Amino acid sequence: MTPPLIIAIDGPAASGKSTIGKRIAERLGYLFFDTGVMYRAVTWMALQSGIDLHDEGALTRLAEETPIEVAPASRFDGRVCDVLVGGRDITWETRRPEVDSHVSLVSSYSGVRRALSAQQRRIGLRGCVVMAGRDIGTVVLPEADLKVYLDASAEERARRRYVELVARGEPADYQTILTAVLERDRIDSTRAVAPLRPADDAVIINTDGLTADQVFDRVWALCQDDPP
Ligand code: C5P
Repeated sequence: MTPPLIIAIDGPAASGKSTIGKRIAERLGYLFFDTGVMYRAVTWMALQSGIDLHDEGALTRLAEETPIEVAPASRFDGRVCDVLVGGRDITWETRRPEVDSHVSLVSSYSGVRRALSAQQRRIGLRGCVVMAGRDIGTVVLPEADLKVYLDASAEERARRRYVELVARGEPADYQTILTAVLERDRIDSTRAVAPLRPADDAVIINTDGLTADQVFDRVWALCQDDPP
């Protein structure tokens, strides 16, 4: 079998895109690229420099001018990849709750999306890549050879995020996480530009009640052109 050269994995927050995408990429010897980290890096930079998050022009310039580097994970501390800006490792900063609660607003701006999607597309077109996000199969790489859309109920996704935070020893409150997940879903799926939705030719997998291994097996079967 020849595995698909370009694999797109989309889906809402905490639907397992990174966990599954990373494992599929490792198995195939491909690059795993989590596009969410780019939107998170711009949001973190904006919060750091006190840019008004309603100033689309300033945020677009920030997205255009900030060299964001996404590299394979250099440490075994639970990270999926390294996120560097100007040589500084900001991987964990991009996971902070204040980034979580503002990233969907920042990524709703068309200028920000144009700047980041162009970089993502360039990387994706090189092939041998698993790219995860919200609009990979619909906008960034509509020519992807395999498109997977991972879904799960908001409650299940909030529970997974809660377990993740507790495992990292961070403060976590299930209700707060659930509210934040629902709010991000709402903004991501109702925005005018590149809203979250499955591509017409995506394979939709509902992961409620499935273990990570079971989801992996289903996606792996698709990579082998052997639908479960
Ligand atoms: O995947 P993750 O939860 O890290 O993404 C953070 C946010 O970045 C999402 O809630 C969404 O607003 C935005 N995003 C996007 N398009 C992508 C990836 C992420 O709009 N391709």
